[in-house]
Amino acid sequence: MPDCPICNKPLEPPMVKCSSCSAELHRACAKRTMGKSYCKDCYKQAKKQARFERMAQREALGGGKPGKIW
Ligand SMILES: [Zn+2]
Ligand SMILES: [Zn+2]
Repeated sequence: MPDCPICNKPLEPPMVKCSSCSAELHRACAKRTMGKSYCKDCYKQAKKQARFERMAQREALGGGKPGKIW
């Protein structure tokens, strides 16, 4: 029986799967964001990803500076 990668205790229900790497975790150990559960590492990744997406969106919306012309 695998251990929970977060708390290192044996897995037992209620459990969830990380939406990103499919690791099984206790539901109480999983981090939730945007309606999905993630393990610790993937949660970090997901948060980073969300920030990148927000930044990309802002750029796409023309929120960037006009740029240096000369
Ligand atoms: Zn756990
Ligand atoms: Zn994961």
